[in-house]
Amino acid sequence: MVTTVMPTYGRIDIAFERGEGPYLYSTEGRRFLDFASGIATNSLGHAHPHLVETLKQQSEKLWHVSNLYEVPEQKRLADRLVANSFADTVFFANSGAEANEGALKIARKYQWERGEKERHEIVCCRSAFHGRTLTTLSAGDNETYRTGFGPRPEGFRHVAFGNMNEMREAMSAKTAAILVEPIQGEGGINPADVEYLKALRKAADEFDALLIYDEVQCGMGRTGKLWAYEWSGVAPDIMSLAKGLGGGFPVGAILATEKAASGMAPGTHGSTFGGNPLAMAVANAVLDVILAPGFLEHVTEMGELFAKRLRDIAARHPKLISEVRGKGLMIGLACVGKNTDLQAKLREAGLLTVGAGGNVLRILPPLIIEESHVAEACGIIEKVCADMDAS
Ligand SMILES: *Cc1c(COP(=O)(O)O)cnc(C)c1O
Repeated sequence: MVTTVMPTYGRIDIAFERGEGPYLYSTEGRRFLDFASGIATNSLGHAHPHLVETLKQQSEKLWHVSNLYEVPEQKRLADRLVANSFADTVFFANSGAEANEGALKIARKYQWERGEKERHEIVCCRSAFHGRTLTTLSAGDNETYRTGFGPRPEGFRHVAFGNMNEMREAMSAKTAAILVEPIQGEGGINPADVEYLKALRKAADEFDALLIYDEVQCGMGRTGKLWAYEWSGVAPDIMSLAKGLGGGFPVGAILATEKAASGMAPGTHGSTFGGNPLAMAVANAVLDVILAPGFLEHVTEMGELFAKRLRDIAARHPKLISEVRGKGLMIGLACVGKNTDLQAKLREAGLLTVGAGGNVLRILPPLIIEESHVAEACGIIEKVCADMDAS
């Protein structure tokens, strides 16, 4: 029997009625500590007063006008993203996949405009995830996601994440860009180390290729810095954003240097919804909170505390958790048994998490959590692990 909602997801049988901060309340009246955050998207938790107020006010003024006109809220957000990053210019999209599509277009156009018309190849990594459009599936590395969807957009090569020999081997006079997540999310919370990012930058420069970071998941304060790449000091030429940028409102963005975006003249790219006043108002409000003094330091502090306590739990339950990795509040538990089993038991006990590749369980709390929430989550995880060990 076909369902009216196309059955593309294997859904968990819970629906939520409302949320408040890091908590979600189900239609059956149960309270959950939401450390999935809509997959790193509700960066400020649920119903954050500043976001609610901003959305309310903007909804009474203007929702959409199209990019045929000036959109002052767009300029304000772009100015702030530029002022706080490597970038000189920003394009607004509606999702992560769209931001990556645009990032790839910008890189290829850059090469084409400088007369390098054969340079279209993008070197990507194994276990990468860049979205579900046909092109971003080609950039990503999930064979299941790709199978059955016909001819694949060409020009994508894949190398092992973290392996510079393979990267250099794959690069040539045809390479337009390298595309990499500074911390792989769906792939299993795999952080690129500083040396790898430095070496990628060097190789990109040597081969006249651009370096693109996909910070759709790891950006917007998730790691304790506004951008995950800041931990390495190695800036890209282009970067894609989405997820946490809107705190739950759909919005994506492509940040680029003036040089990388030099081919993007009027008419080269567009989006009907991209950068609409509602999305811009909310994203600006998210930035208000994240850029407030002390906010990112708090994320780092909570991340360190959480990781330390999780490592203690892992040490007590080596038959369940083999490793705790990640940065800030982007944490992965490498599971020994099936990650989905631990995830289901945690959910029954009132804690929401997200699965990832490589048998990893992702813990992605909203960035506004306090020590008490870390303690509550660790209490649940410890108890569930003790019960699992005992059975
Ligand atoms: C989620 C994600 C995407 C895709 O974003 P959508 O908004 O679902 O299109 C792309 N890249 C990374 C790293 C992601 O985590």
